[in-house]
Parts: sequence; C-alpha cells; structure tokens
Amino acid sequence: MIDFGPGPGRSIPLSPKPTSAVIGATGLNLGGWVMYPTTRSSVRLRLAVALEPRTVWGTGSRQRLGEATWRGYVVSAVHAANGRCEVCAGRSELHAEDVWVYDDQYLHRRFVRVACICDRCRAVRHFGLSAIQKRSGMAAAWFCHVNDVNEDVLADHLNHCARIWLWRSSQRWDTWFPELWRDADH
Ligand SMILES: [Zn+2]
Repeated sequence: MIDFGPGPGRSIPLSPKPTSAVIGATGLNLGGWVMYPTTRSSVRLRLAVALEPRTVWGTGSRQRLGEATWRGYVVSAVHAANGRCEVCAGRSELHAEDVWVYDDQYLHRRFVRVACICDRCRAVRHFGLSAIQKRSGMAAAWFCHVNDVNEDVLADHLNHCARIWLWRSSQRWDTWFPELWRDADH
C-alpha cells in the first residue's frame, strides 16, 4: 500500500505495472479539458494530478537547462499567460511548472515547456508532495472545485495516478529536450 497522507484516496493498492487503461495519462492538460479513465467510466478534467516518478526527482528543467536558459522560459511563460495561472486564471503565488510527456513504451520523457500556474493548482499537480506538507485537504478541495467533481472522482483519479507513478518510479528514464535541439540548429 502507498500512503498519500490524510484525505481521499489515502490507501491505494499496488499494481505491478500499468494496464493499457492507465498508460497514456501524462498530466499534460493545463486549463484544457482532457478525458481520463476511472474505474467506472471516464472523467473530464481541466486540472490533473501529475506525479513525477521517483527516478527523475531533482532533474527538472531548471537543473538541466541551466539558470539563464531556464529563466528565459519562465519569462516567456509568464508573458504568454498574461501574468495569470494557466488553469484557473488566478494571479497570486505564480510558479514555473515543468510540463513533460512520458513515453512508457520507450522509457523517455520529453520536456514540452514551462507553464505558469498558481500555488493551489500546483498543489494539485504535486499531490504527493502536498500530502507530505499537510496540504492535501486544500489540494483535494481545489481539485474538486476547478474540475467541478466530487471527492469520489478525486479518489479514483489518485488511484489511477498512483499506479502510473509506482510503475514509472521503477524505471530509468531518458530525458529529451527537443527545444534545445531546435535552438542548436540556428
Ligand atoms: Zn491556478
């Protein structure tokens, strides 16, 4: 069992590897509505949990791109978002958030961009960290509010994400930065 701390979905059964139903959730959607599978049906979410595999912790874009390049991405992200959270349009406590796509077949993750999101939306994406920080209650309430769903949907979604996270955390990942390759061509 994995413990996500207090709140919905705190006890999640282990699964040795994702089934085809759970592969494919990338946590990419920010602000747009994307369908996610649940145990009963699919649910439409505009803010999803996006748990980084344990094996890539500490290897975000800031570390890999270097401070100057990373700051350029952050300035562009804040400008593009007009100084608002890309999910909820809030203006307070904005964060730079890495967006990655995971390829579970070939075990690589691709850096997509830096996004501009607020502290509450970030707490939802990093739900495991929020639980450690005793903020899972706030994150749970915000997930339900932004997505207009109840806590049963959250529990199901956490279960879904935790199964992906457990499998991905048992793998070694290559990291790709396509944007850097494009820049290098010029
Ligand atoms: Zn927000």
